Amino acid sequence: MGWVSTDNEHEGWAACVAPDGRLSSSYSGEGMLVEGVTGRYERDKVMSDHEVVPDVEMIGWRGACTCGWQGELWKRVMSPADADFSHRRDYVSLDGFADASQEVEDAIHEEWKTHIAPSEAILGLEAAAREHAQAGQRLDKTVAAAKAAGASWADIGRAVGISRQSAHERWAEKQ
Ligand SMILES: [Zn+2]
Repeated sequence: MGWVSTDNEHEGWAACVAPDGRLSSSYSGEGMLVEGVTGRYERDKVMSDHEVVPDVEMIGWRGACTCGWQGELWKRVMSPADADFSHRRDYVSLDGFADASQEVEDAIHEEWKTHIAPSEAILGLEAAAREHAQAGQRLDKTVAAAKAAGASWADIGRAVGISRQSAHERWAEKQ
């Protein structure tokens, strides 16, 4: 697990993909842990609803998110000569861990950021709207104070940058 969105609604990671399409959720000493029991692989000793898929069998990687989003597949190739980043093909050693290379993990991280971009943008919008509402309330109070101190609607309009008529229409009712 790796990346968390600002609103904590999304947690993303670069998952290893098993031959049957299941995604790794974590790692045990013997291989990648995938959720579910199919009988094709040994069950994990600690998490009995997970199976252990040997690293060498993993067919690739893809982005995953706790909301259910999945990125496009990055295919694992069996020789370094077949690796081709622009076609989403990469090689990692067959006798080591099946984790994605740093390059692929970075690319998947970017894909995940694109996935959460709309909700991150909405957060920014909510903050701006909150500040806007607060500034509006401050303006209303300051206008009321100016009027109470004897300022005319023309004075107030000039200070705010609107006409006397507009100032009157906007604030006279609130007095
Ligand atoms: Zn998500």
